[in-house]
Amino acid sequence: MADEPRYRSMREMIVETGLEMIEQELTKGTGGNASARTDDGNVVISPSGVPYDEIPPSEVPVVSLDGERIAGDLPPSSETPMHTAVYAGREDVGAVIHTHSPYASTFASLREPIPASSYLIAYAGHEVPVAGYAPPGSEELANGALDALSEATNACLLANHGVLAVGEGVRDAFENALIVEHCARIHYQASAIGDPVVLTDEEVDELIAGFAEYRSQ
Ligand code: 13P
Ligand code: ZN
Repeated sequence: MADEPRYRSMREMIVETGLEMIEQELTKGTGGNASARTDDGNVVISPSGVPYDEIPPSEVPVVSLDGERIAGDLPPSSETPMHTAVYAGREDVGAVIHTHSPYASTFASLREPIPASSYLIAYAGHEVPVAGYAPPGSEELANGALDALSEATNACLLANHGVLAVGEGVRDAFENALIVEHCARIHYQASAIGDPVVLTDEEVDELIAGFAEYRSQ
């Protein structure tokens, strides 16, 4: 397939994001995936099963919202249906990141939402909800994840699997994935030595309003 220069910088960003996921221990090996919506309404997405340090940016796949590959020689992520379902269902989302980060995945295996025991949860929503179990790569997983991501929620857990984080851009989605892992770790640690106090809905509402201003500065 011909190289498409118009996608160059976004493809580079996808490769860098994958490397950063490994560096920040949000995933291991070829696990997880990242994508971003392009200006022309398509999706640049990490390839399936390729170690992040072996991905040539020019071969990063670009797919349509129907999941059809329109550029890039490598096969798109097996989780493409989950990424495209989110772009189709959430117009405000410009980037999607799926990780297997260990503390958040622990709650995903318990099928327990991550509650507001740290104020940072407000970046993700009132809590990080859990989408019911479905096999990796399935349409059922895609639909369940989209259902869990209500309008005001920027992340969900995928039962017995990992995390899905979204944002306006790749940076926001990545930050949200990091915050989910941080909040899961804090809740785990606090639960190990006591009973974490969970913030009320009103307290989280106030934080969400404050964060909207903070990020728009
Ligand atoms: P891909 O390598 O196909 O993106 O799959 C990794 C993964 O995390 C599946 O859920
Ligand atoms: Zn996965």
